[in-house]
Amino acid sequence: MDDPDINPSHATFERFTQAQTFKDVQQHFSDLCKLLELNPRDKTFYKCLKEKLNWWKAKEMWGMFDKRASHADYQQRKVCSKNKSLVLGSGPCGLRTAIELSLLGAQVVVIDKRETYSRNNVLHLWPFTIVDLRNLCAKKFYGKFCTGSLDHISIRQLQLILLKVALLLGVEVHSGVEFNGLTEPSGENGWMAQIKPASHPVSSYQFDVFICAAGGSFRPEGFKAKELRGMLAIGITANFVNRRTAAESRVPELGGVARIYKQKVFQDLLTQTGIDLENIVYYKDDTHYFVMTAKKKSLLKKGVIKQDFAAADELLARSNVDFEALCEYAYTAADFSTGGQLPDLEFAVNHKGKQDVAMFDFTCMHNAENSCMIRERRGKRLLVALVGDCLLEPFWPLGTGIARGFLAAFDVAWMVRSWGLGAPHLKILAERESVYQLLSQTKPENTSKNYASYSIDPKTRYQRVNYSSVQPHQVQHLYNTDKGG
Ligand code: FAD
Repeated sequence: MDDPDINPSHATFERFTQAQTFKDVQQHFSDLCKLLELNPRDKTFYKCLKEKLNWWKAKEMWGMFDKRASHADYQQRKVCSKNKSLVLGSGPCGLRTAIELSLLGAQVVVIDKRETYSRNNVLHLWPFTIVDLRNLCAKKFYGKFCTGSLDHISIRQLQLILLKVALLLGVEVHSGVEFNGLTEPSGENGWMAQIKPASHPVSSYQFDVFICAAGGSFRPEGFKAKELRGMLAIGITANFVNRRTAAESRVPELGGVARIYKQKVFQDLLTQTGIDLENIVYYKDDTHYFVMTAKKKSLLKKGVIKQDFAAADELLARSNVDFEALCEYAYTAADFSTGGQLPDLEFAVNHKGKQDVAMFDFTCMHNAENSCMIRERRGKRLLVALVGDCLLEPFWPLGTGIARGFLAAFDVAWMVRSWGLGAPHLKILAERESVYQLLSQTKPENTSKNYASYSIDPKTRYQRVNYSSVQPHQVQHLYNTDKGG
């Protein structure tokens, strides 16, 4: 009975846990639900799944999920049982938030315009994110998760892990669904979303919590971004095929080598190749991944950038970049920085089937001015919150993105919990803004080392948190209402 070859639901569950594409995860999940005669929209889905899938491999996972779900913060998954939330974006931060909202008992629907997870690029993981992901069974979904001393994961693998957890906990995830704005309440209807395709069932979904996790450049109506303009900073990422040979495994990773610490290495690189870098990171993951910050002069000299412009957007416009020269530049930098030890360097391909090399502008970064707001129309309230890159844009070579993204996901869940508990609205907004003030300063050194006790409560994670550094009267503008207007 325990053999997955004999029991079709065990075999399907195994296929689901090991699936490597967005589409396959969804397909195997749907097959599993059919086989077990379960409706994933059912409020008691997870409970029923546990009862019906009593296989030892699945039971190990239930044990770990139940441990997390038993935390007092979630009040047995009842604290937000009256709340309905829409999460925009199935990137790592949208999915991580969706999992927390589901543990709080909310109904959660995630939408994403994409149908594939294709980013090979690799994210640095702070220790707490590793513990967090392990506790969510990351290792069972992805056996190579943080093997040995590795503290990173490809964006794609991270999305797959979180997608699987979210689905098992009863989160509804829709791909190929584009968000085009909110629809204000009218008649009997509450807050809804304008989506494409308009006929999709999500277009009739009414919700009282809207989480925007749409990535870097998208912020919903009413949110402004602060521009942090620094010196010109040009990032290059490159991925090479990892054949996992012994020779490849021997090449040491570069956790982040900055010019100021290794002047000679960077000088040698410049003299011998004409490539001038500020820093370089190399991670051995599903691919050999490199991220570096390159100096404009050397990019011009090597013909990567065709013509000099003062404005970064003109300078890095696609029409001003020679892609072949960019590949050559990235290849040489990767080869030199690993001492020529990576044999047969061959570019991995991206979702367009091209060499996976890209150049990004980090000169101007954006942080949201505010992290949340409440909108009220015709007596119907909507809590809106930002999470992930659309809240705080990360500088990739520093590897802060996913850790701050997860911290914000927990903080947002804490706010939604207060919303579910019916706390006064201005107090909810003021508390969230108080906690948001800490986020851009967080580092592994100034966050709690007691990872096992991390919960959605900010005081378990930040060393010094003052929930009232922003006062309710200072956030009145974030409560946007038609009452009395
Ligand atoms: P994302 O992961 O960007 O997810 C946002 C999701 O929202 C996307 O799936 C998108 O399809 C969806 N979406 C957006 N708008 C809509 C809409 N209107 N309707 C429906 N869905 C929508 N970080 C690093 O540290 N190192 C790297 O090398 C690196 N490379 C990157 C390469 C690319 C191409 C991108 C886009 C990001 C990269 N990042 C990198 C950033 C990193 O991916 C994020 O920090 C991390 O994924 C957390 O982001 P997120 O969940 O907030 O948003």
